[in-house]
Amino acid sequence: MNNPQTVDVLIVGAGPSGSALAIDLVRRGLDVRIVDRSPHAFDGSRAKGIQPRSLEVLEDLGALDDVLAGGDIYPKLGLHAGPIGVPWKMFPHKEATPDVPYPNTWLIPQFRTDRALHVRLGELGREVEFGKELTELTQDEDTVVATVVGADGVEEIVARYAVGADGGSSAVRKQLDIGFVGTTDEADRVLIVDASVSGLARNRWHMWPGLGGKLIGACPIPDSDMFQWMIRLTSDEKPPQEIGAIIDRIHSHTRNRHIQLHEIHWKSVFRPNIRLAEHYGRGRVFLVGDAAHVHTPAGAQGLNTGMQDGYNLGWKLGQVLAGADPALLGTYEAERQPIAAGVLGLSTEKWGGIAKLDPSSMKRGKDEQQLALTYFGGPLAPADNMRTGTLRVGDRAPDARLLGAAETRLFALFQGPHFTAIAYGPDAARDLELLDWPTTGAPLKRLTVGPAAGDGRAFSDLENTLRSAYGLTGDTLLLIRPDGYIGHIATRDFLTTTQAAVWAMTPQTRSRTMSQLSQPSHAYPGSGVPE
Ligand SMILES: Cc1cc2nc3c(=O)[nH]c(=O)nc-3n(C[C@H](O)[C@H](O)[C@H](O)COP(=O)(O)OP(=O)(O)OC[C@H]3O[C@@H](n4cnc5c(N)ncnc54)[C@H](O)[C@@H]3O)c2cc1C
Repeated sequence: MNNPQTVDVLIVGAGPSGSALAIDLVRRGLDVRIVDRSPHAFDGSRAKGIQPRSLEVLEDLGALDDVLAGGDIYPKLGLHAGPIGVPWKMFPHKEATPDVPYPNTWLIPQFRTDRALHVRLGELGREVEFGKELTELTQDEDTVVATVVGADGVEEIVARYAVGADGGSSAVRKQLDIGFVGTTDEADRVLIVDASVSGLARNRWHMWPGLGGKLIGACPIPDSDMFQWMIRLTSDEKPPQEIGAIIDRIHSHTRNRHIQLHEIHWKSVFRPNIRLAEHYGRGRVFLVGDAAHVHTPAGAQGLNTGMQDGYNLGWKLGQVLAGADPALLGTYEAERQPIAAGVLGLSTEKWGGIAKLDPSSMKRGKDEQQLALTYFGGPLAPADNMRTGTLRVGDRAPDARLLGAAETRLFALFQGPHFTAIAYGPDAARDLELLDWPTTGAPLKRLTVGPAAGDGRAFSDLENTLRSAYGLTGDTLLLIRPDGYIGHIATRDFLTTTQAAVWAMTPQTRSRTMSQLSQPSHAYPGSGVPE
């Protein structure tokens, strides 16, 4: 703490999970370093499906515009069983609604998603330190010491916390000696190739089934002449290396000689590992993303789950660094590990279905979109809490349209590192005014909403979009966590029950007067959010 070289958080790995976490921490005013062993950002298309919930997260982190500009909605599947391609709707195409602004899975190559995150991090004044590899990690009660090797030699980085976002073969996880439990099917390998292609319609995600699920798929990468090819290899097959051999492999499987590959931009062979870390951290070190969970690509969940790990951990690290009870960090594993366990089951089922040529395995819907993920019943969302007509504590807080000085969206008001309290109705509004909030840690934005304009509340719910999405039937006080999940619902006893929920998630400064007397050693810089 007294060492000027000590940073708040060291992040190892600048893929989507580490980069999303870095943005969240830096916007909280924390001193963060993010290192990556690769000499440059990842340049493959690998994870190309961004789910609706992740689009909401990206909006909050300030990286959504670039992600929307760099992608498109998914085309229909083109199933080739013989000479004809049969169109097949994989994703239901939905219109945006007031509560779900981004209802469709977004197609964008991972190199553009990573770039959007790195650009956003740069806007916040922090750059990824490429070409620096973590080789060793030790920790004591107060700090973590990481040995990092780069072109300039060996460096020791001292941090109050460290996070391993270093992918499936995570060095951080190995340093922590945390088991990675599951299976790897060595016989199941997929060659992925990003290539410039001609002779293939770009309005379809083409699939050519094969026996035992040994299919070939070709998905067009938006705003490019590239397709992402997935060639599921037979168990004894040597992956073709050169462009000519890859073209021959495609021609012999698809029987379509019009297809031409002109340039290979990236390729890789992967084995679908299905593994979950036994723990999501140890002491002052945590794991996010593929470092904590890996599975098949079916269902497009890995990148999404990884970014949302970071989004869950970020505010908790910020709060604990500002003086909240470190037990808050224990809720990270309790909330996120069950989500990953569910993802492993979902993607394994879909992957197995593809092998059996089961058409339902090609369908994508609610389970994949991650909008219904909930922390209900977890340590911050006890199941015996009050609920509304549609929502329970721990559920995702939906968007809504409100009228204040101008028309606005609830998500625009959520945007930033703060908590938000929404008081609906006069009794809830009166108690919200009395709610005590510490002066350190994430600030609170207080919103008072009434059903109609001119009833004295700052916002009105003229179209009833809040009332309907939140299932409100009378006065209600809602506390929304910085990651957009419901932290507390009070339909009565507004002040006492909300205040108790607040203490579990904020620095232990019980009143404004007390907090001034006992500033934690690391004050959480304000984010300019008015109370
Ligand atoms: C074919 C395929 C398709 C996929 N499709 C989807 C999809 O559509 N949607 C989806 O959500 N997911 C998908 N995934 C999964 C997705 O790619 C991963 O889940 C995602 O990349 C994980 O992000 P991450 O940041 O956790 O790890 P990574 O992206 O693996 O990043 C880890 C970073 O850590 C760095 N690193 C590693 N070791 C060290 C070290 N010792 N020191 C410093 N740095 C280190 C690496 O260089 C790397 O940059 C797909 C995967 C595959 C293989």
